[in-house]
Amino acid sequence: MKFFYYDIAVPIPIRETFTYKSKDAIRRGTRVAIRFRNKKMVGYVVKRLTNKPSFSTIEISEVLDDSPIFKSSHIEIIKWLADYYQHHIGEVFDTFCPPSLRKIVKIASKEIALESNHTFVTEDKNIKLTSEQSICLKELKKLKGFDPCLIYGVTGSGKTEVYIRITDHYLSQGKSVLILVPEISLTPQLEERFMNRFGNSIGIYHSKQTIKQRTDVWEKARSGDIKIVIGTRSSVLCPLHNLGIIIVDEEHDQSYKQHEGFRFSARDVSIKRAQIEKIPVILGSATPSLQTLKSVQDKKYKQFNLLKRANGSQPPGLIILDINDSKLESGIAEESLDAIEITLGKGKQVLIFINRRGFSPLYECNNCRWIAECRKCDSRLVFHHNLNRLVCHRCDSAFGVPTKCPDCSCSDLSLQGSGTERIELFLKEYFSKTIIIRLDHDTTKKKGALEKILNNIHSSKTAILIGTQMLAKGHDFPNVELGVILNSDAGIISPDINSLEKISQLLIQVSGRVGRKNAKGKVLIQTRYPEDKNLRKLRNGDYLDFALNNLKQKKELHHPPFSAVCIVRSTSPLAKHNVNFLEKIALSAGKDMSISAIGPIPSIISKTRGNYRHHLMLQASSKVTLNRLLKKITAATVLWKETKKVKWFFDLDPIDYN
Ligand SMILES: [Zn+2]
Ligand SMILES: [Zn+2]
Repeated sequence: MKFFYYDIAVPIPIRETFTYKSKDAIRRGTRVAIRFRNKKMVGYVVKRLTNKPSFSTIEISEVLDDSPIFKSSHIEIIKWLADYYQHHIGEVFDTFCPPSLRKIVKIASKEIALESNHTFVTEDKNIKLTSEQSICLKELKKLKGFDPCLIYGVTGSGKTEVYIRITDHYLSQGKSVLILVPEISLTPQLEERFMNRFGNSIGIYHSKQTIKQRTDVWEKARSGDIKIVIGTRSSVLCPLHNLGIIIVDEEHDQSYKQHEGFRFSARDVSIKRAQIEKIPVILGSATPSLQTLKSVQDKKYKQFNLLKRANGSQPPGLIILDINDSKLESGIAEESLDAIEITLGKGKQVLIFINRRGFSPLYECNNCRWIAECRKCDSRLVFHHNLNRLVCHRCDSAFGVPTKCPDCSCSDLSLQGSGTERIELFLKEYFSKTIIIRLDHDTTKKKGALEKILNNIHSSKTAILIGTQMLAKGHDFPNVELGVILNSDAGIISPDINSLEKISQLLIQVSGRVGRKNAKGKVLIQTRYPEDKNLRKLRNGDYLDFALNNLKQKKELHHPPFSAVCIVRSTSPLAKHNVNFLEKIALSAGKDMSISAIGPIPSIISKTRGNYRHHLMLQASSKVTLNRLLKKITAATVLWKETKKVKWFFDLDPIDYN
């Protein structure tokens, strides 16, 4: 009997592939059912072997797809990802497969649709491009092959319109377009504008959709029935037929990085995909990441600018409001309250940004300074008024509110500090006739809640909008004329090496929601550090100038993007197990002169769900050097007894350094 032999990636936490045999000739990228350690599971064919292996192999149980679900180019990307992030290859395959296909189900592939007639609306007569938009579009049409570029477009400069026109350009050539957005909360508006222009030839793909919806979009994209996919990070390898270009909107956004399991950056993967498929990729942002700006400086990426707002309105100035001598009401200064009142009086909307949900972040004993903390994590509990519970934002546990201090039995306990919920309650009393709308994780949990809130914002005239990061990103709220930023101080004084990049992006993004329609808006930043030099530099709202300066400092300090960093994170019920394991890694890294290892140290949240957390920071002069070290560590840890006592992973190109 003649057999073929295949390397199969199995979705388990093991880095190697496994060899199986079959009588069938199977193409790479096809799913198969296999027996692995007495369990039936899905495997992905990575490669056909040319020779019979010297060891015995078992037979593939069943071939699941009649044509490969992963193209050769995608297998190349997946292999690159498994190597770059040093992650288990089977799990990488799983990440980019719709959930329904991770199970043992057979699918018959649909016929590839014939090149469809291009029936899209080419031009909307009502929207006239600005000269900047026209120039940008003309340049974008010239992109050829792998050609990455940054569109630096200030907030309100009309990037979306440029995306729509360039999409149309590719569709008219029979090509398809992938548009990545950082978060679901941004999708409704972009989706709506694309739907208005291109009708129903659009697929939306994100993790809040049902499994059936996602499978449907994925298959239609593959067969060519859908030519445009708008999706979040899990759609970055969506198998669009004849893909022409990738657009990454808000490329600086941290939600492109996956925070659990396989921790990849969808922005970086999209660039790799474009490189392997030899197509252009557009990165758009009003606050580009330092990494992207460095690539522009290195002449690896082109840069096009949209520096004026499309409707001619002026971007708002940032006003530093010294609150050291101000009276605060639920965290809002009197001066801010006055400004809010004036804006409401003009029939306009106000946006209040605070980076903390819930009612109050501290429940404290006024006698002995005991503070309520989660029993499983070392994080402080946040009081939620509507639940009448203290909630842990790390593990979601909720606790009753003690009436007596557990340490000193005194009953003088009080709530300190403000979150979105407290501000909402306070403003509802203070401006009792005004519509108050809160947008955060808690108010948008239910399906359809976000759309309802956004509609509410658009249909109300005068209103106060209160929200977290979710409110600061990408939205177009034409009637907002005043922004108030309540707690930026933590970001301004943070010692984190990327905190300046994060806080500057946030301030500019919040201010970008303000004064978008004709009127000149303003943004108040409440701070106890009015003399802070970075805050003063950001005052004129010129992000690029600020970021390029920041980049210069990074170069002098050899911080990323001028070096490569990986944080090795370890958790264990016993702290010493983490320390022993990480020390062993530090020791093996220490032999290499081009690597510096800092730690092990307890993470800022040093305990979560009953486990201790420690980390070790590895910094290398280049990504290649770092990758070499990570491979060495991966191979070595398999043999250590210390490895068995911890859960650990690499956090490569981290966003959080603590
Ligand atoms: Zn006490
Ligand atoms: Zn907790």
